Order: sequence, then C-alpha cells, then structure tokens
Amino acid sequence: MTGSERIATVVVIGSGQAGLSAAYHLQRRGFASALDEPPAGASRETPTYVVLDADAAAGGAWQHRWESLRMATVNGIFDLPGAPQPAPDPQEPSRLAVPRYFAAYEREHGFPILRPVRVTSVRAADGDADGPLLVETDAGRWRARFVINATGTWTNPVHPVYPGQESFRGRQLHTKEYVDLEEFRGHRVAVVGGGISAVQQLEEISRVATTVWYTRREPVFIEGEFQRETTGRDTIAQVTADVEAGKPSSSIVSYTGLSWTPYAVAARERGALERRPMFTAIEPYGVREADGSFTSVDTILWATGFRAALGHLDPLQLRNDLGGIGLRGTQVLADPRIHLIGFGPSQSTVGANRAGRDAVAAIARRLREDSSRVA
Ligand SMILES: Cc1cc2nc3c(=O)[nH]c(=O)nc-3n(C[C@H](O)[C@H](O)[C@H](O)COP(=O)(O)OP(=O)(O)OC[C@H]3O[C@@H](n4cnc5c(N)ncnc54)[C@H](O)[C@@H]3O)c2cc1C
Repeated sequence: MTGSERIATVVVIGSGQAGLSAAYHLQRRGFASALDEPPAGASRETPTYVVLDADAAAGGAWQHRWESLRMATVNGIFDLPGAPQPAPDPQEPSRLAVPRYFAAYEREHGFPILRPVRVTSVRAADGDADGPLLVETDAGRWRARFVINATGTWTNPVHPVYPGQESFRGRQLHTKEYVDLEEFRGHRVAVVGGGISAVQQLEEISRVATTVWYTRREPVFIEGEFQRETTGRDTIAQVTADVEAGKPSSSIVSYTGLSWTPYAVAARERGALERRPMFTAIEPYGVREADGSFTSVDTILWATGFRAALGHLDPLQLRNDLGGIGLRGTQVLADPRIHLIGFGPSQSTVGANRAGRDAVAAIARRLREDSSRVA
C-alpha cells in the first residue's frame, strides 16, 4: 500500500471495543470491505469501510494492561455487540482473556482490519468543508468521506512535570509500564494519582514494598453501596453535558468518585491509603513534601491516568477556545465528517458499544440524505 492512495467511505481508526462496535454496525448496515476490489469496470455504489489499527494484534488496550489486572478485578467488561463473552476465569489476566475474545469476534465477522497501521494525521483534502479527508498512515494514504476515531487513551499517558524531576536517581514509571509486582519488592515507592489504577496498584505494591500515596486533591470515596445503574446514568449525563458544552474532558473518577472495592478496603486495612498532598519537588533520592520535609523514595509510579489519543487529528483544528472538542452525539461540531467514539461519555466498554452504533447510524443517515438530494 506504501506510496499509493486507497479509498473508503469510512475509515475507522482503532480496533478496541469502540472500533469493533463501529465495524460491526457498518457491516450490518451493508458497508462493504474497502479491501475488496469492485468487479472490473463496475462503478462502486456500495459504501465501503476499513479499520486501521496501530497494534500488531487484536485486543485494543487490553493486550497491554498489567498482568495482575485479572478478570475478577476489572470493573466489568461489556459484551461486544451480538457476542456474549465466554464465562471468564476470574483469575485469568484481562490482558489475555479480552484479546482472545476480540480476536475470535474479528475472525467470526471477517472485518477488514489492517494492522499494524498507525495513523499519523488526518486532514482535509481541500477547502471544501464537506470534501474528502486524507488519512495518512505509516503504510500509505486513505481518502475517506468520514472518519470514526476510536483510538482510546492508552497511547497518551499523562506525565506531570515537577521541579527537579530529571535529577532523580531512582526509577520513574507510568501505570502504562507497570507489569510485575516483584520488581517493587523491598523498595520505597511513591505512588502518584487519585484514580482507580492508582488505588489498585497501591494495594498491590503495598504488599511487598513501603508505599507513600500522593494526590493533588483529597480522594473522594463513595460511602455505602455503589449504585451501578443510577450512578452510571448520572455520570454519563454529566459527561455528555460537558462534552456538548465543548469543555475539555476530565477523568471519569472526577465524576464518580472512588468506590470501596475489595482492593481499596484491603489497601486501607494495610494503612496504604494514608494520602499525602502532592510533593513540591523531586530530588535525587526522594521528594520534598508540601510541608518542607524530605521523604526518601527510590521509585516513583505515576498513576496519573491517560488522555484521549487524538494528536493525529490536530491538522483539523477541532479544539475550541476552552481546549475541548465539542460533540453532538458522536459527531464533532467543528467538523461533522469526524466522529469520536470511546471518548467523553462513551469511554467505557458499554459506552463504546453504543457510540459505535450511533456513529454508524449518523453516517448512514447522512449518506441517505446525500443520495436523495442527487436523485
Ligand atoms: C487501566 C484501565 C482499566 C480499565 N478498565 C475498564 C473496565 O474494567 N471496564 C470498562 O468498561 N472500561 C474500562 N476502562 C476504560 C477502557 O479504556 C474502555 O472501556 C475501553 O476498553 C476502551 O476501548 P477503546 O476502543 O475506546 O480503546 P482501546 O482499547 O484503547 O483501543 C484503541 C485502539 O486504537 C489504536 N490506536 C491508537 N492510536 C492509533 C493511531 N494513531 N492509529 C491507528 N490506531 C491507533 C490502538 O492500537 C488500540 O488498538 C479501563 C481503562 C484503563 C486505563
């Protein structure tokens, strides 16, 4: 494909839960694979699609999650559209179970997925706001009418910057690089961050190491039973309102608070949830506390979360003055050719499913309108 240009009505970027949901609904609505050549001499009437994914294997971000994130400790993974998950072994790492499930789904449906293909940029082909989009990749260019972006967050970890950070003589790593608990045994570890991953990793590491927990704000734990249905609905409504108002997205935990999961309770019982305000600086052998005292640590784990991985869309200038990207449904207000799924209110497995369906429905509607105008 290098050097050539290929054409699809819809390019889906990413094949995690969101991208697979989009592929399922595109196929269901009769979009053909853009990888199949139309019969010689025939003009192509049927809209087409392709999925481009930067990973070498199926599974989206799940294939990269840490070993000890078991099926019993994930927050609940929603079924892909039309495919109930096999009964999970609670002890199996999610990084194995979920990619296996995704791979079987892809095989069953025969989706046109190209991987590893990284999209480097998406831009307008010309000045026509309704004209084609050029999707540049490390394996050639695609020309598309619509882009459904489903690139998740895993490839865009948040790395805060603190004075003196480069002088630190110990090890710094992000949640993304966390694999094996044993590498922390006997160490003094500063865990930074107030989200679910921070609490999970703190609980684990505190079994084998001395930990100190730092967060910018006092973590908010929800007392009493977590009402999944109502809390989930309220959260989605709040995030949707923010995204529709074009506000920059913030972490889901800032909407939901933390719940007293079994691992959070275990961490509390071990004394690991004694939170300290953020340190003010990093020194070669530790951190300078907010009160001016010094704490010696040899490892800093930045469990500081992720942001939507959207750098490849920068040429389209989708951001507003607030720094956010306004959406109506899944459609970007600043450029309705682009749909963002697995983003804002749809950044959960259930949300990703719905968003895939909604994006495809909106595109199908638009194509119908176009053809009735032509007729
Ligand atoms: C640690 C952690 C635990 C979580 N646990 C849960 C949970 O238990 N339940 C739940 O519902 N949600 C959970 N979430 C939220 C979770 O991220 C979503 O639910 C869902 O897995 C995201 O799916 P996705 O399709 O949006 O993105 P991803 O699974 O991240 O897939 C994105 C895909 O896009 C590809 N990609 C990225 N950039 C490019 C590019 N430039 N070009 C081409 N391809 C690209 C990637 O290779 C990847 O395959 C968790 C998140 C984290 C960080």
